[in-house]
Amino acid sequence: MSVLNVARLGHPVLRQKAEPVDLNALVAPGENELQRLIDDMVDTMRDEDGVGIAAPQVVRSLQIVIVEYRTNERYPDQDEIPLTVFVNPVITRSSDETSSFWEGCLSLKDLRGRVTRPREVTVEAYSRQGEKMVVEVQGFLAVVLQHEIDHLHGIVFLDRMKDLTQLAFADELKTYWTEEEAAPSPEI
Ligand code: ZN
Repeated sequence: MSVLNVARLGHPVLRQKAEPVDLNALVAPGENELQRLIDDMVDTMRDEDGVGIAAPQVVRSLQIVIVEYRTNERYPDQDEIPLTVFVNPVITRSSDETSSFWEGCLSLKDLRGRVTRPREVTVEAYSRQGEKMVVEVQGFLAVVLQHEIDHLHGIVFLDRMKDLTQLAFADELKTYWTEEEAAPSPEI
């Protein structure tokens, strides 16, 4: 297992539409390049202190997303998210109700922006074992999953922002904004 380089905004891979994963190749026994990629993505996400990572962020244009969040002192309000791998994820339902959250991104290091998204979504995907999953999520996990699935479509959180005055560096937010104005948030 190893830590991979993270593509930063400006790398063309972040603007490409990622290819679906071949599920037969995903579960093929023996030396398996896709399973190794997933392990390396987990290592990279943890090394970067991210809450999620999408394969294009490690310069692989494939439809794989990983999320994991363990509560820590810096962001005590967020729910824990166990390590979960989503292969070929699709959002099949979005609520009309929306919520706003300050998002960060490993590919836009240190920037934070306020993004409004559907509060609840249903996501269909496959596990790393190739099993079909359907999950209904809300709150923080819904934010993380929508952010990561956007990466598979060449979209970054800046594209979702309606008001660019709500974009700032994390240090400046901490210095000049109240927690009510800008709750601290991890990178996704
Ligand atoms: Zn991101």
